[in-house]
Amino acid sequence: MSRPISATVSVAAMRHNLARVRALAPGARVWAVVKANAYGHGLEAALEGFREADGLALVEFDKARALREAGWQRPILMLEGAFDEADVAQAARDRLSLVVHEPRQVDWVEAARPAEPIDLHLKFNSGMNRLGFDEAGLRQAHARLSGLPGAGAIALVTHFANSDLPGGANAAIASFERATAGLAGERSLANSAAVIAVQPAHRDWVRPGIMLYGASPFADRSAADCGLKPAMKLVSRLISVRTLAAGESVGYGSTFTADRPMRVGVVACGYADGYPRHAPTGTPIAVAGRRTRTLGRVSMDMLVADLGPVPQARAGAEVELWGGGVVDIDEVAASAGTIGYELMCALAPRVTLRVD
Ligand code: PLP
Repeated sequence: MSRPISATVSVAAMRHNLARVRALAPGARVWAVVKANAYGHGLEAALEGFREADGLALVEFDKARALREAGWQRPILMLEGAFDEADVAQAARDRLSLVVHEPRQVDWVEAARPAEPIDLHLKFNSGMNRLGFDEAGLRQAHARLSGLPGAGAIALVTHFANSDLPGGANAAIASFERATAGLAGERSLANSAAVIAVQPAHRDWVRPGIMLYGASPFADRSAADCGLKPAMKLVSRLISVRTLAAGESVGYGSTFTADRPMRVGVVACGYADGYPRHAPTGTPIAVAGRRTRTLGRVSMDMLVADLGPVPQARAGAEVELWGGGVVDIDEVAASAGTIGYELMCALAPRVTLRVD
């Protein structure tokens, strides 16, 4: 028998979350962001769950090819654009739209002379200071691209650094408006946080990622509060149950010591499955549907659960790590000092991914 850990991906939840995006941004078309293997959920599930999206957005060119091979006909947007000239040739072949954030990417489009024009999304740096042009660079690139036979429609985009904070996107929106004033083209600004909380950012297209998978983009608002349903359920089982005597410790480093006799359960899930090693004692977990907590250090293949709230639990009992309706992925992430995004993306290949 294989290890009893598995992740189940709910296509119905993904559809629900996409419908939520539509309800929140009714006038906008939707790029469903499916980079990083659809935030760990798998492209197969994404194709099903986001069948009604207007386009799919990602950063991996091999996966864009796979989407075309799987029959996706609508637009595909490469969020970081071409990494070299060969990517521009692929974009022409596979009808991929490219973000352009660097002058050399304009050079590549110029040099490639694609037979079919490529739609281009000029990126403005609105304060993230990662990718994108300043206003002068944007206008220059726009002017250059507007004259190129290989360039199709030119859109204008930016990505927010702080849209999860109240008012955090205001300055970015204002600078984007200034930089793009008078330039023709569709606009695309909003990530999940802005879809939910920054209505003026919706414009022609929105680009949600995390909310489509049912996790919250906010530190202080749960996914359920945002009307979202978790798309990934990570479950395992107890593989052993024991009683710690008062004074006995558990796990590497003996970081947790029982102050009284305690029933504990060993769960087949560790950091090699993608569970965060930094999750401390007290991280929420559910055994047989009852909420409890982890104890001691997470090891490679196992972690330990406090069976205090479930004294009847035996080896074989089901354990919910997250996403099954009792434990939120965002709670586990917060306890481990990270975000739900990282946990989803870090799900290890050895965990069986089931599509429901
Ligand atoms: N747009 C761009 C350019 C991104 O890089 C990302 C993800 O990081 C998104 C949209 C989606 O962001 P989120 O998952 O926060 O909705």
